[in-house]
Amino acid sequence: MTALAESKARELHRTYCITGPEDLADLEAIANAECLIIEEADLANCQGKIRYEQDCGLIKISSAIREPGARRFVIAHEMGHFFSESSRLNNCSSRYLTPVRSNPQNENNANAFAVEFLMRREWYEAFVKDKDPGIDTIREAAEYFAVSLSAAAIRYAQAGNFPIAAIMAHRGRVSWSAISESFPYQFIGKSCQVNGSSEAYAFFRGEEVDTSPHTVLADSWFLNDRNFRRCHFLTEQCLPMPNYKSILTVLWEEPIK
Ligand SMILES: [Zn+2]
Repeated sequence: MTALAESKARELHRTYCITGPEDLADLEAIANAECLIIEEADLANCQGKIRYEQDCGLIKISSAIREPGARRFVIAHEMGHFFSESSRLNNCSSRYLTPVRSNPQNENNANAFAVEFLMRREWYEAFVKDKDPGIDTIREAAEYFAVSLSAAAIRYAQAGNFPIAAIMAHRGRVSWSAISESFPYQFIGKSCQVNGSSEAYAFFRGEEVDTSPHTVLADSWFLNDRNFRRCHFLTEQCLPMPNYKSILTVLWEEPIK
């Protein structure tokens, strides 16, 4: 269902001769060229909104967004509504701006457009091709594509060179997860409590977190997955985000070197 939104993103790349993320440095100029005006506004319950007619529109971005990468993603997401929907009005809360497939279809379409537009699959695959999985690669990708860590991690689960599970936990509960199709486990309950044996839980206990890749049992995250195996070791790496009371965890099967 999101293929059309992705093809619209590619079409826009062709129209503006965009061949890499460096050509997207001035995202607003591209939006303006498509008759989309962008304003910052004090938005009460959403990160971004768009109101549009057939060939022009007004995008409002929350002035509370601190991260430039997150701001760019919201702009691209609102552009996605314009190019792939006909509803004319969208208010987009933060939960709709996480590009995982659990949102209403129009939000999934807007996210699919934004992901493909900012991190086109071939660009992402080429960027991570010779890199090890883990937080460092995701951090480098976030910088290279000028997006948030969350967006770069979710794209890695779709287009990275190793199967991974990326999990964001907030105040002790899973807020989202993105899992590669070929990762051995696929289920993490949304809003489920972080397991006490995981490194992420140490963060919520206020303890020091080991941010290097380390070995964990699958029990720490996937006890409720129907394919759960005992004594199955995974590699885990965590990135605490204390300003957001959150921690990003990435898991993969590659053994530590
Ligand atoms: Zn939206």
